[in-house]
Amino acid sequence: MELKVLGRHGPYAAPAVGACSGYLVTDGDFSILLDFGSGVLARMMADCPEPDAVFISHLHFDHTSDLLPYRYYLDVCKKTATVITEKGSSAWYNTLFSHSRFTVVNVQEDTTLTVKGRRLSFFRCDHPSPNLGIRITNGKSTLVYTGDTRYFEGLEKQFEGADLVLCDCAQPVGFQGGHMTVDRIPTLLRYHPKKLLMTHVNPNEVPSAQDTAYPNVALAEEGKIYSF
Ligand SMILES: [Zn+2]
Repeated sequence: MELKVLGRHGPYAAPAVGACSGYLVTDGDFSILLDFGSGVLARMMADCPEPDAVFISHLHFDHTSDLLPYRYYLDVCKKTATVITEKGSSAWYNTLFSHSRFTVVNVQEDTTLTVKGRRLSFFRCDHPSPNLGIRITNGKSTLVYTGDTRYFEGLEKQFEGADLVLCDCAQPVGFQGGHMTVDRIPTLLRYHPKKLLMTHVNPNEVPSAQDTAYPNVALAEEGKIYSF
């Protein structure tokens, strides 16, 4: 499987080079976009304009905003897209998803889906906007993506057996809010995921090399492809 980082920033993009959250996962004939923040659409169009599915972890703007212009693309092409997300009832949820070009598949933490033979399952996280993490496996390789979350007891258990963990853990020590700080990394490695990529990077507070100085840990790089 491969993961391409289309955008890694939040809550807004970095100057010139940045986009908000968006990650393209591909595996042979299978493709799924994980989150769809601002700046992601152009990059997705370059690689994979019609993934098999789009997963939305939660409804914050930096994870959803490019869904809106994507609808115009679908209108022009007269195509539909499958969007996997938790059911919501807010006006923003309805604005995003109540559109004939989207086929919405609602999931929750006990849901398991199979898309082209790849198994998708979900887990509850802890964030001001309800957030589901996702686990994708083809039976040989496994990716876990947290979406946005602060630390909670047992989160690291979700990473057991994962080949690649894409994790919201790039905030500076002392940050208070719905994301994890870099000093959580030793805890997050407790179940030995083979690689952990730190993401959801604040453009003004990019982690230093010292923050990432753990075995098999790196800061997600936009445009880079990670094979696992
Ligand atoms: Zn968020």
